[in-house]
Amino acid sequence: MLLTLAVLIAVSMAVYIVFPLLSVETAGGGLPTDVTVLGDLKRRRLVVYDNLQDLEFEFQSGKIAREDYESLRTNYLGEAAGLMAASQEAELLKQDDAVVEREIAARRVQRSKLPKVEYTCSACGYENPLPVKFCGECGARLAPTGKK
Ligand SMILES: [Zn+2]
Repeated sequence: MLLTLAVLIAVSMAVYIVFPLLSVETAGGGLPTDVTVLGDLKRRRLVVYDNLQDLEFEFQSGKIAREDYESLRTNYLGEAAGLMAASQEAELLKQDDAVVEREIAARRVQRSKLPKVEYTCSACGYENPLPVKFCGECGARLAPTGKK
C-alpha cells in the first residue's frame, strides 16, 4: 500500500514534470491524449517487461551470474507489480471520477428543470442554490411563485 502510494506520487510528479515539456512540442494543438497517468504507467510497465526479457536472455546465454540474475529479476518483478497496482488504483480513481461526474450532470439536469423564480431572491437578487423559503444571502422571505 505504501509502495503503491509512493509509485503513484512518483508517477504524478513525473507527469507533472514531463507534461509541460510535451505540451510545448504540441503548442496550440491541444492536449496530447497519450500523456495520461494510465498511459504512462502502461508504458513504464512495458519497459520493465522488456528489461525482464533481456535479463532472461542474458542469463540463458550465460552472460550473467545466477545470483545477479535472481536479484535483478526480483527487482524487476517488484517494479512490475508496483506499476500494475498503481494502474489498478488509477483505474479505480477514474471510475470514481466518472460516477461523480454523472451525479453532477444528473443534479444539473434536475436543477435546470426547477423554475428559477422559486429561488432567486426578489429583495437582493441572490440566486439561492436550492428552492428555499428564506434567502440565504439577506434572509428575506422568498415569494412563493412558481407553484408546484
Ligand atoms: Zn436576498
